Amino acid sequence: VYLKAIEAHGFKSFADKVNIKFDAGVTAVVGPNGSGKSNITDAIRWVLGEQSARSIRGVKMEDVIFNGTSGRKPMNFAFVRLVLDNRSKTLQLDAEEVHITRKLYRNGDSEYYINNEKSRLKEINELFLDSGLGRNAYNIISQGEVDEVLKAKPDQRRGLIEEAAGVMKYKLRKKESEKRLEDTAANLSRVHDIIHELE
Ligand code: ATP
Repeated sequence: VYLKAIEAHGFKSFADKVNIKFDAGVTAVVGPNGSGKSNITDAIRWVLGEQSARSIRGVKMEDVIFNGTSGRKPMNFAFVRLVLDNRSKTLQLDAEEVHITRKLYRNGDSEYYINNEKSRLKEINELFLDSGLGRNAYNIISQGEVDEVLKAKPDQRRGLIEEAAGVMKYKLRKKESEKRLEDTAANLSRVHDIIHELE
């Protein structure tokens, strides 16, 4: 799977609708300070379901909506769409091209779409869980994070490597199973109590 294009409209500095196309292989984005290079990676994080405004350099989520310039009125929504080449069928969808879209209005209404079908964030998370993409995967390394890896303690570094190696999803499933086991043990103990009362 690879990223073919990012469409953005009303997201941060992208007041006009932009369609940034990528070829397979390495792409470098260059531009002066403050011209919006990092806003591109913020857009990727956001559309993949980023819930923390701080992670995309804002204070509240509304900050992702274009808030106007001296000559231009603020917009009332932000839109980002990722176009992914899925000919490899890495994403478990029967489609050669997958579109992931997120839209946020100033009144707080928020929508996600997978291939133009309204979806929940949970479905987007699940789609990317096994793919090495997704907002929790280490596919975006921001300024400062390289330093963090170098300064990390051994167990923290191990966590990063485990995540990169795809161990995370098994850890998550293990945790879910443990929770179910605990619930079952609690139920069993309750049943024992009832039996005891009846005897
Ligand atoms: P640097 O090279 O300094 O890291 P950059 O090219 O990565 O810069 P960004 O940090 O992506 O630049 O872009 C910041 C710009 O985006 C600023 O000019 C800021 O005013 C603008 N910006 C951020 N949020 C909004 C918004 N909601 N509305 C309008 N402009 C915004």
